Amino acid sequence: MKVFKAGAAAAVAAVLALTATACGGSSDKASSDGGASAGAKKDKIVIGIKFDQPGLGLKTPDGKYSGFDVDVATYVAKELGYQPDQIEFKQAVSAERENLIANGDVKLVVATYTINDKRKAKVDFAGPYFLAHQDLLVRADDTSITKAEDLNKKKLCSVAGSTSAQNVKTKLAPEADLKENPGYSECLTGLENKAVDALTTDNSILAGYAAQEKNKGKFKLAGLNLSNEPYGIGLKKGDKDLQTKVNAALKKMVDDGSWQKAVDANLGPAGYKAEPAPQITEGS
Ligand code: GLU
Repeated sequence: MKVFKAGAAAAVAAVLALTATACGGSSDKASSDGGASAGAKKDKIVIGIKFDQPGLGLKTPDGKYSGFDVDVATYVAKELGYQPDQIEFKQAVSAERENLIANGDVKLVVATYTINDKRKAKVDFAGPYFLAHQDLLVRADDTSITKAEDLNKKKLCSVAGSTSAQNVKTKLAPEADLKENPGYSECLTGLENKAVDALTTDNSILAGYAAQEKNKGKFKLAGLNLSNEPYGIGLKKGDKDLQTKVNAALKKMVDDGSWQKAVDANLGPAGYKAEPAPQITEGS
């Protein structure tokens, strides 16, 4: 009985301690000021990334994160006052990015996220910090697809909520038989087993897939430049303060050489030739 009582007391103490922590401003959600206000308790920052894009945003089976977007996110978080162990990465699939930001589920989205007016109606961006281009991935032995018009009547795969899917439907190849998946892995499987003839998205993403050990020799990029895809860091609409701070962090990352290092380390192995760092234009 005595033991039980002691246990119960400990449980109550634990609950009280938890409540006290909660009142002290510790929270699972991203703190409302990005942790940047003086004296704020900087517990953690939640950042949305891709989990399935080698070289950009990848969650490995051992639970680690790697890629250029992960490095950018880590650098920016540090400038906002968060060490790497204070970052919680959350998966941000293409179609969910605006919602995650608007709902406050993430503070930032660093996920091959193209800046465009449609998205800017719902969120704000910092950046751009990278310029990619839409391209096609086809089977290595395919000679029938060399330009966008060739996709008409072909089976094409893309990801729902991506600019690439939209571009195909509205201008590149409106007659393509387009299949939209939530993520990219389904498209890769489809391409390999001939359920689809091509996969379209940013060349930066496609280069990462083509270079993966398990895909070696199976696929090739068409080498087309079908659009400009300037990547921005998504944040809550109207949060000027955060936008200014993230822009400053991105500029510093380019100026001190960390940006180029991250590009070389993450995209170099796939043989991807990156464009130079773009001028930051958001918020100005
Ligand atoms: N950058 C494009 C976009 O933001 C395609 C890649 C993606 O889906 O993340 O829609």
